[in-house]
Amino acid sequence: MQKIVILLLIIICSQTILSAQQKDTYIKAGLLYDSEQNVLLKNKVIHVKSNKIVSIGTYSTIPNGAEIIDLTAYTVLPGLIDAHTHVLFSQDASEDFSEHSIHSLTMESDAVRTLRGAKRAKSYLDVGITSVKDLGNSGLFLDVALRDAINEGTIEGPRIFASGPIMAATGGQIYGVSPKHQNLIDLEYRIINGVEDAKIAVREHVNQNVNVIKICADNIPNNTHLSIDEMKSIVQTADSYGLSVVAHSITNQSAWNAIQAGVDGIEHGFKLADSTLTLMAEKKVFLVPTENSRAYMEIYGKLAGYDNDDLDWIDSYLVRMRNRLTRAIQKGVAIVAGSDNYTDIGSTRGASSRDMFRAYFEAGMKPLDILQSATYTSALSLNKENEIGVIKSDAKADIIAVKGNITTDFVDTIEQVVFVMKDGKVYLSNLN
Ligand SMILES: [Zn+2]
Repeated sequence: MQKIVILLLIIICSQTILSAQQKDTYIKAGLLYDSEQNVLLKNKVIHVKSNKIVSIGTYSTIPNGAEIIDLTAYTVLPGLIDAHTHVLFSQDASEDFSEHSIHSLTMESDAVRTLRGAKRAKSYLDVGITSVKDLGNSGLFLDVALRDAINEGTIEGPRIFASGPIMAATGGQIYGVSPKHQNLIDLEYRIINGVEDAKIAVREHVNQNVNVIKICADNIPNNTHLSIDEMKSIVQTADSYGLSVVAHSITNQSAWNAIQAGVDGIEHGFKLADSTLTLMAEKKVFLVPTENSRAYMEIYGKLAGYDNDDLDWIDSYLVRMRNRLTRAIQKGVAIVAGSDNYTDIGSTRGASSRDMFRAYFEAGMKPLDILQSATYTSALSLNKENEIGVIKSDAKADIIAVKGNITTDFVDTIEQVVFVMKDGKVYLSNLN
């Protein structure tokens, strides 16, 4: 008898847990951004169950007595994606990258580094960025550790697509280290020595369960760079494991080489020539333009020690970036939004990262095109276009809401995030 009572209790308890997990929620959206079609739809309902979106309908489809989240006063978007982050790296504007890197590698323990990264990770959720592609400068797979801790629920943060250490030629991006200390570089980069070594490097990364491979096509201002054959070897091996490869590229030549080697995306691409952009469009290689707005650059300039009347270079920087972005769009290159913000400018990392929206807007991109580059197009670049960056049946329930007019007042509206749901769980609900 006692056994039967216990058995009944177990059944009742497990049913209660089941119903809590599989609870139906209906989100009423005044405006809903359809990221695939790049249009805004009026008065839609998103039916969410557990961590997934069941369907999209109209208000009349809501059953009586259903649990409703009322976002009729807001614009509802898929959770945003930042396709270029360094969650485990931070430096001051006045610091030299190389000296700071060596200082961190020798004086910041992995434990402290990861805890600091955990705090930064949470700040992305606060501003509606529910996924990030984290592209190196993260020690020996600390990005993978952070991703796993988030996925298992130990800490809160965005979905992380982790690259592990960047694959690069001799010295990596850390220039000026004497020969006897080159072993320090191996704590931050996977240095590639030839075509066979490139294959081994990819296998090591697969073994550590990375989501994407990041290479440095050039190491400017360190003068070494990977050969086309080494990059080809990385791309082919990565492809055999279903992993995409993205290439950091500052010079036009390195981007050209990386595209010849078959990479999926170019990061930065500050100096891309028209011919290279044409090739990118032909081969469907996406571009992650990691620019910043005027406001950000002015704060950065002052923190870096420039006088107020010594900031003219910001104008030419903005003109150059606008020109490159416009040419890329005209040629038909897919634009994927990425911040690359790792400098401490006095706000949280998440708040700093969304400066990319302001920057793209200032450079002439249309509001909905910017949204698409941070949702659907970004998900496409991850081969996750049915899971994230979209609000449709069977996608993950990564849903946010913003206050304001997204088309006529884009910059302020995208920064007024009032609701954040990731994987069906509500992290922010600041509704009035
Ligand atoms: Zn970067």
